[in-house]
Amino acid sequence: MDSFCPTETTMTTLHSVRNIGISAHIDSGKTTLSERILFYTGRIHKITEVKDKSGDGATLDFDSLEKAKGITIQSATTTVAWNEHTIHLIDTPGHVDFTIEVERALRVLDGAVLVLCAVAGVQSQSYTVERQMRRYRVPRIAFINKLDRPGADPRRVVRELKEKLQLHPIVTQIPIGLEREHEGVVDLLTERAFYFDGENGEIVRESAIPPHLVAEATEARQRLVEAVAEVDAGVAAKFIDDLPIAVDELIAAIRTATLSLRATPVFLGSALANKGVQLLLDGVVAYLPHPGEVEQVAFTETGAEMMLSADPTLPLVGLVFKIDEDRFGQLAWVRLYQGRIEKGQFVSIQGRRTKVSRLLRLHANRHEEIHSANAGDIVAVVGLSAESGNTVTDGAALTLTSMFVPEGVVSLAIAPKHQEKAAAFSKGLGRFLREDPTLRIKRDPESGETLLIGMGELHLDITIAKLERDFDCEVVTGPPRVNYRETIRRTSAFDYTHRKQDGGHGQYARVAGRLEPVAADFEFVDKTVGGSIPRQFVPACEKGFVEAMRRGPLVGAPIVGVRCVISDGAAHSKDSSEIAFRTASLMGFRAAYRESDPIVLEPIMRVEVEVPSEFQGAILGQLAQRRGSISSSEGLEGVVRTVAEVPLAEMFQYALALRSASQGKGVFTMEFLRYAEVPGGVAARLG
Ligand code: GDP
Repeated sequence: MDSFCPTETTMTTLHSVRNIGISAHIDSGKTTLSERILFYTGRIHKITEVKDKSGDGATLDFDSLEKAKGITIQSATTTVAWNEHTIHLIDTPGHVDFTIEVERALRVLDGAVLVLCAVAGVQSQSYTVERQMRRYRVPRIAFINKLDRPGADPRRVVRELKEKLQLHPIVTQIPIGLEREHEGVVDLLTERAFYFDGENGEIVRESAIPPHLVAEATEARQRLVEAVAEVDAGVAAKFIDDLPIAVDELIAAIRTATLSLRATPVFLGSALANKGVQLLLDGVVAYLPHPGEVEQVAFTETGAEMMLSADPTLPLVGLVFKIDEDRFGQLAWVRLYQGRIEKGQFVSIQGRRTKVSRLLRLHANRHEEIHSANAGDIVAVVGLSAESGNTVTDGAALTLTSMFVPEGVVSLAIAPKHQEKAAAFSKGLGRFLREDPTLRIKRDPESGETLLIGMGELHLDITIAKLERDFDCEVVTGPPRVNYRETIRRTSAFDYTHRKQDGGHGQYARVAGRLEPVAADFEFVDKTVGGSIPRQFVPACEKGFVEAMRRGPLVGAPIVGVRCVISDGAAHSKDSSEIAFRTASLMGFRAAYRESDPIVLEPIMRVEVEVPSEFQGAILGQLAQRRGSISSSEGLEGVVRTVAEVPLAEMFQYALALRSASQGKGVFTMEFLRYAEVPGGVAARLG
């Protein structure tokens, strides 16, 4: 076992735990940085280069498929130790199609490191990530990476943090040399220079500030104190009176301002050239919150809020935020908010008792067994019968607000390419469905095809690619389709008699009643009296309606929002059967449906587009063409952010259109909003 880190959380106190995410625009060096962190904290003993996006490169980004797609999809959590602190690194995916992954990761992390490239600066994804972080009130520190690259300009990036992201950066370092001359950094708080010696920068050497940087460092320190004074009254008072301010005082003030999201400390370096990473880790420990500093509430059965406390002696409350499967079997990732969990103990999940057979810590693709974990910690539990989003307690009926699960709005028909792979196909899909609540499958009642339903085109593409890679099952697919629905707008009655006589027993059933619009997806009401429909046939009537609602006649979409009421009917002592009543109900429904003013519903998405203002006209034109209605549009520092409601059917290939209309400078995010009626003309085209 690794001698570098404690293996039991019980050895660590709450104050020494950090649950953090690293977020970045693609290619800023997040993977390289994560891997350097694993190396310097002693979790891996060799640095692998991550340049090769197809091979088995860096340890954290272990999924070659993610590399091929250039995005990180799974929230791998890995635990490292630094200066007697335990840091859980939670991988935060950046792509919008994976809303559920992002929501989960943000839900369980307490702080974040925002990685920026010293050449490219604040890029499109930085905005998206920044917005999410702000929404979840995640305190963050910034790391300006790639100081060794030609064109590196950390000052410009700091300006962009201020101007483009409206952050209040507190620059804690200046570089010792840039580009090929980048050697290390000067820490402005301690006023010392740091170099990173040894083959991989593992030896941190501290010395006096080199003479040629003394003036610049003095000036930069002055700016640092000013920046702190802007967000801290105590420092401001001393600054105005020209009194000495102790380093510890500055650090405490920066910490307080960071936790309350009023400041973002900035660190510098080069992950690839092995510079500055250790000081960044010091920064994580110094400025990001421990779990006890983050507020958490749970809800009781009556819906009352209960404040949780990260105290191991209180009753257990934890959140299952991810389900994974690997060679150990099913792993449930649990963030503990209160109490403690022990190997062998029984816990309660939605009223079910289940045993914690093993507790693990994960290091990307290696496991380490532990015996217990405390509030604030993140562990993987083996043998827990749970689903993502479940609350784990030791008996109390408490729930943590469950994570928002968006509606699947795109589907594709899929099938194994070779019949002999059918078993692998079902097994693979079964596993993905358990892991990802936003993924569903359904059988198309007409064609018998299996439909895979998800959050977007990319979401489905990735799932298919994973089936091929992990289960060696090639699949054939149809084109992506929007999930339409049908519904009715008024009540209408039916009275249907099903009669058939073809030798032997005949079939006879009469069912009368009405269809009514209702807010729920489906309701069935039996108002028959005096046995006009014999009791044993009533369930068959309901089955008939359910069958009718699977597929509406307008566009073949499922029907929702109908209450089916039966009020009368007739049976024949010999010729009535379940089949006969099911058929009569189904046919009665179909007849009445046409009279109920049926309409087609389509998913409407909330689309948010950001472009430099010169492209705004083109973007508005495009959205209008796509039947979009603009909800708001605001300009900010040369960038215009437009929010619109657009039918999903019009959003396929939008990424391409946006790119060409904005010279690649636009970004957009999209999420499901609601179902709405498809306008007549469009509906006619669909039908
Ligand atoms: P990610 O997409 O954010 O995970 O970025 P990667 O870590 O995969 O890095 C993207 C590219 O930038 C790779 O080719 C890295 O070798 C390179 N890179 C990462 N960090 C640095 C750095 O500090 N300096 C330079 N010059 N290149 C870097």
